[in-house]
Formats: sequence, structure tokens, C-alpha cells
Amino acid sequence: THFGFETVAEEEKASRVAGVFTSVATRYDVMNDLMSLGMHRLWKKFAIEIANVRPGERVLDVAGGTADLSLAFAKRVGPTGEVWLTDINHAMLSVGRDRVFDKGFALPTAQCDAEKLPFASDSFDLVTVAFGLRNMTHKEVALTEMRRVLRPGGRLLVLEFSRIWKPLASAYDLYSFKVLPWLGEKVAQDSASYRYLAESIRMHPDQQTLVQMMSGVGLERVQYFNLAAGAVALHRAYKF
Ligand code: SAM
Repeated sequence: THFGFETVAEEEKASRVAGVFTSVATRYDVMNDLMSLGMHRLWKKFAIEIANVRPGERVLDVAGGTADLSLAFAKRVGPTGEVWLTDINHAMLSVGRDRVFDKGFALPTAQCDAEKLPFASDSFDLVTVAFGLRNMTHKEVALTEMRRVLRPGGRLLVLEFSRIWKPLASAYDLYSFKVLPWLGEKVAQDSASYRYLAESIRMHPDQQTLVQMMSGVGLERVQYFNLAAGAVALHRAYKF
């Protein structure tokens, strides 16, 4: 607005996100396992199956963090393909890059904002963003950028928390607003970061709203798969 409130809120969100991930980077993987009861591995496994990466493909992992997806894709693209690991946060990207090296791969990496991707248009077969979109300030801008860098016929996968089946909603709220921050405090001495996690999940668009958002930026054949009763959803779309 011309009062500038929006700008202040947006800047606040971006710096809060930066603070959260810088503070959790080294413990991110352990906390992920603990808080999702290991389920994030299954959700990612499902995304990797649906991604169906073939040898020789060019893949861009946006908000790739500690590189779970990038690593799985690296094993599939073979010597003729390429996987880019990217993230806006230096601490997360460093942990991811070290992990990739430790597993015997050398992937190109870039520290970049999903809202302003430093890649040519029409250049990737697959773009993925796992548990990253809800942290982005302007989701439509980020989705537009992801679409831009896809080649015609390329696909986008968005793995993200979503709206859980209603009968489970109050138990889930209790878990995310009470148990998660408590766990965050006990394990990482950082309840604030995990309270942010719960808030960002609640604020994120539900399955259908995200379908509309993705269609709205020109992505086609948008569909989604619910995981864990809708607590998480995998959206897939194409650029034609
Ligand atoms: N994809 C990884 C995974 O599934 O384990 C990491 C997910 S982590 C919850 C979210 C990541 O999004 C963080 O590493 C954070 O730095 C990144 N992120 C937040 N805003 C971003 C932006 N605007 N552009 C690129 N990455 C962003």
C-alpha cells in the first residue's frame, strides 16, 4: 500500500525466514525426522517416484536446502544430465552441498531467490520445490519464475504442507502449535523457529487454492496427490 505497511510486512517475512533457516540449518535433518516422525522421507520418496527423472534430464531443485531431492535426482540423471541445487539461504545450502559431496556427487549450486531465478527461460525438464513455497513472500512470482525456466513439456512438482482432512484438524493443531514448539525447545533450544513452522503451515494455501494459483500463472494440467490425510500435498503441473 502507499503507507508502506505491506512492504514492511514483506521485508519482515523474508528476514524472519532467513533467521529461521540460518538458525536451524545444522540440525535441520534431525529435526525433520523427529517432527515428521520420519514421514518426510516417505513424502519425498513419493515425489521422487512421480518426478520419474530419466537419464540426461536437466533438473532444478528450488529451495533445495539439505539436498534430499537433489541427491535422489543426481543418482537418476546420469553423466549426461544435470541437477542444480539452489536455495536462498547460505547456511542451508552449505549443509546441502557438503552432504552432496559426502555422497560422492558434485552438483552445481546457486544461492538464489526463487522469485528471481538466475537461469535462462525454457531450460529445465523438471523443477521441484519441496517444503519451500510456503516460505516465499510472493508465491505467484516464484511460480511464474519456475514456469519460465521450464522447457515446453517440462513439469513442476510442489511438495508442501496443505490442509488436513477436517476430522483430524484439531488434533493436528494441537500437535503443530503445542508439541512442535515444545520439541523445538527441547531438541534445538529454539521454540520460536518451530512456532514459525506451525504458523507458516496454517497460513499456506490449501490444495484447491494452490491449484488455482498454479493455473493462474499459466501452468497446465495441474493436479495434486494428498499424503498423510492432506497434511501434505504434492502438486504437479506442466508447461506447454
Ligand atoms: N527442500 C528441502 C527439504 O525438503 O528438506 C528444504 C526445505 S526447508 C523447510 C525450506 C527452504 O526454503 C529453506 O532452505 C529456505 O532457505 C528456503 N527458502 C525460503 N525462501 C526462499 C526463497 N525465496 N527462495 C529460495 N529458497 C527459499
